[in-house]
Amino acid sequence: MNENKEGKLADEVMHNALMAFEKYSLIDKKSKAGFLKEIAKQIELNRIELIPLAIEESHLSEARLQGELTRTINQLNLFATLLLEGSWVDASIDIGNAQQKPYPKPDVRKMLQPMGPIIVFGASNFPFAFSTAGGDTASALAAGASVVIKAHPAHYRTSSAIFKAIKTAIAFSNMPEFTVQHVEGSFALGKALVQHSFTSGVGFTGSFSGGKALMNYAAEREKPIPVFAEMSSINPTVLYPDYLKTNYLQVAEKLASSITLGAGQFCTNPGLLLALDGDELDGFIEELRNKMQSIPAQKMLHEGIYKNYIEAIGQVKRNNDVEIIFEGNDLSSEMDVLPFIAKVKAAVFLDKNHLKDEIFGPYSLLVVCKNKEELKSVLKLIAGQLTTTLMATEKDMNQHSDILHIQQSIAGRIIVNDVPTGVEVCSSMVHGGPYPATSDARYTSVGTAAIKRWVRPVCYQGFPQQHLPDELKNDNPLKIWRLENNEWKK
Ligand code: NAP
Repeated sequence: MNENKEGKLADEVMHNALMAFEKYSLIDKKSKAGFLKEIAKQIELNRIELIPLAIEESHLSEARLQGELTRTINQLNLFATLLLEGSWVDASIDIGNAQQKPYPKPDVRKMLQPMGPIIVFGASNFPFAFSTAGGDTASALAAGASVVIKAHPAHYRTSSAIFKAIKTAIAFSNMPEFTVQHVEGSFALGKALVQHSFTSGVGFTGSFSGGKALMNYAAEREKPIPVFAEMSSINPTVLYPDYLKTNYLQVAEKLASSITLGAGQFCTNPGLLLALDGDELDGFIEELRNKMQSIPAQKMLHEGIYKNYIEAIGQVKRNNDVEIIFEGNDLSSEMDVLPFIAKVKAAVFLDKNHLKDEIFGPYSLLVVCKNKEELKSVLKLIAGQLTTTLMATEKDMNQHSDILHIQQSIAGRIIVNDVPTGVEVCSSMVHGGPYPATSDARYTSVGTAAIKRWVRPVCYQGFPQQHLPDELKNDNPLKIWRLENNEWKK
C-alpha cells in the first residue's frame, strides 16, 4: 500500500484498471470493435469544440489539427477493422498425433492474449494522434487492455475533452466503467503508475530524458514490465551526388518545408543532412537558404520546449567550427521561432558529441564529408534512428550500396526521394528504431502492428475443444487466417 498522495491515487486508479481489464479482456471482438468505432464517432461529434481548444493550447495551426484529428479517428476505425478481421492474434495450431514415433505429439495451439492494464503518457507534439485517444490508446484497447492515460500538461483541456468523448463511448457501448481512465499530475504520479504492481506495460512519446526515466522506474520494479518509449531521432538524410546534381532545387524545397513543418516539432524532423563536398552541394545550400527566407515564424508547443530549443541553438552557435547557413532574426513575441540551419565539416561532427543530439524545432545540421569513407564513418557513429532518407538516383544506389547498407542498419524506416515527416498509418509502417530512437526496436508505435506491444503469446496444450478460445477451435468459427500444421489456412 502506497502512503503518499501520488501513491494513493495510483493505487485507486490501478485497482480500477485491473477490475476493468478482467472484464474488458473477455469481451468479444465485435463489441470491442464497436467500442473503438464509437470513440471515433464521439470524437467526430465533438470536432467543433476540440479544434479551438487544441489550437489555444498547442499553438498548432487549424489545418494541421483538423488533419491530425481525422487521422486519430481513422486510426481508431482501422483498429476496429483489424479486430473484426481477427487474424492479428497470430493463431497457430499443431494437431496432436497419438501415433507419432518415437513418442506421441501433443495437441498444441497458440495465440496472442492481452497482458493487462497499460499506462499511456500523452505526447505534447501530437495533442490528438499521439495523446489521449491516439495510437497507444487505440492499439492497447484493440489488444484487450484497459488504459490509464497520464495527460500531457501542455494540453490538459484538450485531453479532458477527448476523455469525455471516450467516457460517452464507454457508456454507449456498455463497456466496463474504468476501461479507460484519465489522470493529471506530476512526475511522481507518473513514477507511481509505472511502478504499480498492477501495471503491465507503458507507452510513451517524448524526450530522451523522460523516456529513460520511465525505463529506469520500470527496471526498479520487482516484476519487470515493458516500456515502449519513443524518444529521440535526428533522421539522417543522405544527399547523394548524382541526384543532387539535377534535383537540388526540388531537394531544397522539400527539405525546407519538412524541417520547418509544425515548427520542426516532429520526431521525424530531418535534423541531419549528409553530403559529399562539391559544386552541386553549393547550389543546394544557396537554394535552401532562399527557401528558408519565406518561412514565417511559428509558436512552439510550450515554454519548456521553447527554452530547450533556444538553449540548444545557443550551444551550436557557440561552436566556432559551425557555420550558419540560415538564421531567422530574433523575435520579440514569446515562443515564436524561425528556422536555424548550420553546416559543419564531418571531422568536427565526428568529434563533438553535442552536435549529434536531437534539437527539437526548425533546425537542421548539414555535415559535409570529404569523401565516401568519411560519410560512412559519420553514419556508423550515429545512434539508432526512427528514419533515414536517401535522395538518390538509381546510379547513386548502385554505386553506393555499401552506404545504403549502413543506413538500413541504423533506422526503422528508410525513405527514397521523399521526406521523413508524414507517417502513414497502415500495416506496413514501422515507427520505431534502434535505441535511443525507441526503447525496443522490434516494435512500432504507428500502424496496426502497434497492437503487438500489449500482448503475449499463450500456448494451449491438450485442451478440450469447448474450452479453447474461438480463435483456436477446429472449425475456425471466426474464419481467421491460421497456421495449421505449418500451412496457412482460413
Ligand atoms: P517530456 O518532457 O518527455 O514529457 C512527456 C511526458 O513524460 C509528460 O507527461 C511528463 O510529465 C512525463 N515525464 C517526463 N519526464 C519524466 C520523469 N522523469 N518522470 C516521470 N514522468 C516524466 O516531453 P515534452 O514535454 O513533450 O517535451 C520536452 C522535450 O522532449 C522537447 O524539448 C523535445 O526535446 C522532446 N520531445 C521529443 C519528441 C519526439 O518525438 N522525439 C516529442 C516531444 C518532445 P509531466 O506531465 O509531469 O511533465
